[in-house]
Amino acid sequence: MLNKKTAIKILSEIKKAKKILLTVHVSPDLDGLSSVLAMGLVLRRMGKRTKIISFSQIPGKLQFMSGTERIETADFAKVHFVDFDLVVCLDSAQERMITRSPYPKKLPPSCKIINIDHHITNTRFGNINLVVIVSSAAEILYQLFKVWKVKLDSKLAVLLFYGIFADTGCFQYSSTSAETFKIAADLLGKGASLNEAVLVSFRSYSLKTLKYWGKVLENMQMDKSRKFVWSTISRAEREDLGVEVSEVEGAANLFALVVSGTEFGIILMEEGDNLIRGSLRSRDDFDVSQIAVELGGGGHKAAAGFSLNMSLVEAEKEVLGAARKYLGRKQ
Ligand code: 5GP
Ligand code: MN
Repeated sequence: MLNKKTAIKILSEIKKAKKILLTVHVSPDLDGLSSVLAMGLVLRRMGKRTKIISFSQIPGKLQFMSGTERIETADFAKVHFVDFDLVVCLDSAQERMITRSPYPKKLPPSCKIINIDHHITNTRFGNINLVVIVSSAAEILYQLFKVWKVKLDSKLAVLLFYGIFADTGCFQYSSTSAETFKIAADLLGKGASLNEAVLVSFRSYSLKTLKYWGKVLENMQMDKSRKFVWSTISRAEREDLGVEVSEVEGAANLFALVVSGTEFGIILMEEGDNLIRGSLRSRDDFDVSQIAVELGGGGHKAAAGFSLNMSLVEAEKEVLGAARKYLGRKQ
């Protein structure tokens, strides 16, 4: 449950502030985007001046969401943090998930940071941390807005429902609680649309993305222990298919966790020179977040990620080593 005292403390900081900077994590997903847009809207309705920044471009298929046009793609080295009284970070387990290199891994110490997140590995990098282990950042915002007595109109209901729906994988992950269902039902009653959420989350992939999935499946291997599968996809393989980094999505959620008998799956993608993105997904209740932490990343028990600055071959070795070591410890 959300800590009411922290919720009220955040509101009092917001009331004191005039200009507020909001951030979303790299490669924004529906939960990150919905939460930052919902929070931005609520702050503006309170009369605050806001700016939303993102390291990554907002994926084309999410640009239909109202408010995305306000989000500025930012080089964090050039942001004038001193212009803002408060920074509100949403859905981000660590500062590195917000700023990405070559910017220093941490936000300037002069910033007053409100950290609102639902990842178990959250590093509590804020001056105030509202970290609640629920389905999504959107679920936290629902509870927070209730404490703040914010009226949920259809615009806010639509946004929060998208976040919950996407981060629970359509209510299939174990992070989906009875409370999550109650909140989702309330949001549907207030104007959110299940049909729209299904279309956006599960039925809007480009054909190129499907071809990419084909390659991920073709390259998939089973570990000798039969406890996990993994797949690597190189930059050359991706470029041969004409697939941009922004079109690479979904493979981990769809394929890393479905092989019978395994505990988990790993997908490694070469994003650029010496930049490897890794995704881990657990099939049942195996905790993959600890493997991600070992590799410098983090996330949830069932879905975690990391990035490594090395070649794909080196990364594969490193990751397999970490996974096998962790499995060894578990037995
Ligand atoms: P994905 O595999 O979809 O990139 O990420 C799965 C989950 O792990 C997401 O909840 C995401 O926030 C988290 N995650 C991914 N990469 C990192 C990382 O480098 N650091 C941390 N702390 N979390 C990550
Ligand atoms: Mn999230």
